[in-house]
Amino acid sequence: MATKRVKEILAILDEQYGTDYICYLNHENAWQLLFATIMSAQCTDERVNLVTKDLYVKYDSLQAFADADLSRLERDIRSTGFYHNKAKNIIACARRLTEDFGGQVPDTIEELTSLPGVGRKTANVILGNIYHKPSIVVDTHVKRISARLGLTKETDPEKIEYDLQKVLPKDHWILWNIHIITFGRQICFARNPKCEECFLRSYCREKAGKKK
Ligand code: SF4
Repeated sequence: MATKRVKEILAILDEQYGTDYICYLNHENAWQLLFATIMSAQCTDERVNLVTKDLYVKYDSLQAFADADLSRLERDIRSTGFYHNKAKNIIACARRLTEDFGGQVPDTIEELTSLPGVGRKTANVILGNIYHKPSIVVDTHVKRISARLGLTKETDPEKIEYDLQKVLPKDHWILWNIHIITFGRQICFARNPKCEECFLRSYCREKAGKKK
């Protein structure tokens, strides 16, 4: 059950940012989002979008990724960093999807996390953005800001996810990540957050009572 305090925070975020589902990683289908999310580890969404713009023209089907040459794919995605593991996982993932899932990206957390290179974060991105199933993506912004707002004391992403599941109403699980990414990019930076402009300042546990 969401507390009055949590409901107030959500109402403010809804008012500020709306309630549309936005995905910052460009994609036209489920496997494109899946591979873009794998590439986004330790990389900015802007960089991934730059890479996928050409990549998804060159490799225009799941089968094209399943048949891809590892060293060539490594070169194609090099600028996203950690390209060896990412390329290896993308090819292995494409093969699993074509061989075991009839070319479809599955819609359960168990099946998604059984894919090579797919952890809970990536699985939740797919569940929320593609299938609109209630799911909470814990990225660096969600981790930092959920703690600042006093919604978790955990540091492990999986434990944070479970804490958030307890305090947020299900209809805001997907939106939480969308809103908090925007908030984290515009106001609540990791270093030197713009606390003087912050519309959630009165709910902030980290800054409340401190002079700025
Ligand atoms: Fe972030 Fe500062 Fe707002 Fe707290 S007051 S949520 S630290 S921007």
